[in-house]
Amino acid sequence: MQQDPEQGQGVNSPAPGARLRQNPADLIAFLLGIELLAVVTMVISAVDLTVGREDLMRLLLLTVVAIAFEEASRRVANLRLKVAGVSYFDMTSVWTFAAAIALPALLATVLVLILRLYMFHRYQRQTRNQPYRSVFTAATIVLACQTAHLLAKVVMHHKHTAAGPWLWLVTLMVALVGYRLVNALLIAAATYLSGRSSRTRSLPRLWDLLGSGDANALEVATLCLGAMVSVLLHRQAPLLILVLAPMVVLQRGALVAELTAAATTDAKTGLLNPGAWTQLAERELARAGRQGGTAAVLILDMDHFKNVNDEHGHIVGDAALRAAADALRAELRGYDTVGRFGGEEFVALLPEVDAGAAESTAERVRRRIANLKVTTAGVPTSIRLSASVGVACFPQHGTELTPLLHAADSALYAAKDLGRNRVILADGPATFSADPISELDDS
Ligand code: GH3
Ligand code: MG
Ligand code: MG
Repeated sequence: MQQDPEQGQGVNSPAPGARLRQNPADLIAFLLGIELLAVVTMVISAVDLTVGREDLMRLLLLTVVAIAFEEASRRVANLRLKVAGVSYFDMTSVWTFAAAIALPALLATVLVLILRLYMFHRYQRQTRNQPYRSVFTAATIVLACQTAHLLAKVVMHHKHTAAGPWLWLVTLMVALVGYRLVNALLIAAATYLSGRSSRTRSLPRLWDLLGSGDANALEVATLCLGAMVSVLLHRQAPLLILVLAPMVVLQRGALVAELTAAATTDAKTGLLNPGAWTQLAERELARAGRQGGTAAVLILDMDHFKNVNDEHGHIVGDAALRAAADALRAELRGYDTVGRFGGEEFVALLPEVDAGAAESTAERVRRRIANLKVTTAGVPTSIRLSASVGVACFPQHGTELTPLLHAADSALYAAKDLGRNRVILADGPATFSADPISELDDS
């Protein structure tokens, strides 16, 4: 779930559900529904609860070790928070997943609540998280724990103490998948609804909703450690200390991955920055050269963007840039390489497309941007955005990135000269031109 950074100003895409996007009622209903469900499962797990002294000792041990780890790794965690922002994954699921397997469900829930409260107070200053976000996060983890606990119970079939290693393995794998799926899907649904109710963002794609590969790898590795902790808790609780060293290494590895992502990403739009884009685009072109394939370079420049800033201010201008970046992402394929070249200029490398496909893709992007509608504090204004696009193709307009960029740039200038809001293919006639009346989407 992400915060709306513009707080009342911005741009939205005019897809058929545009009106729904300005109504967060479905998001609020979803959040409250999930929180209510978490409370209901807590009540149900309290009904025939039998807690032994050993269970309480295990809960205490997990709480102490979890907080000790967080305190010891605060410096790295603080850095990760700065770099990763809203996509920061903490590592508390080592302890909560272990609790879901090794403790009665209600005690696992108690641990989740203690750790969420602790994390909220510990990092509140850096994240400036609204309490409702922390409450929802806690609810998703409670439900993930309840699911893992239930699955473990079903697979173990009451053989807990007599279970052999293979049954333990299967149980832990099933519970781990259940935990991860519930957690990921609930967060993805909230992110989707949040994007839908946001005035400033296009709908996120399913792949983006599920988080980056690195974040998922970290979470799965964390859960694997949690699985080991759950077994140790039953057999040799003091050995739990040995899990701390791999956790520290994992935490540092996550920091390196997040720093690398930050170093290659444009912070404003989330697209690649020029250095990273050039590197990837050159790699794609080399591949096309080796395989005798085709590719295309697109350069897109927002039209009269200075006027947008002058008339509406830079905050709306920034929101417009983000919306344009979202439009590009939405119209291009997952394996197209998309970057912000600077200012209000974007670039894309499209592998395996010929001139016709590249032109029609660029036209779809141009049309989508021309249909973005701007709202200021929720009130539609008369701002309209448009962009001009230059397209150059490999190999006919160049076999290296630099000549291709030159060719696309010249085509872009031709598009500007011909009146803007159009797509021009390098050295080719203007096959697409703007028809501002017929292209307006009135939804
Ligand atoms: P043209 O159609 O010829 O491209 O006109 P233009 O006004 O878009 O071109 P120009 O190069 O004169 O101005 C680009 C503007 O883009 C100027 C600058 O204020 C704005 N801009 C560049 N980067 C950013 C940014 O990060 N945020 C905002 N809000 N505006 C930006
Ligand atoms: Mg420009
Ligand atoms: Mg411009």
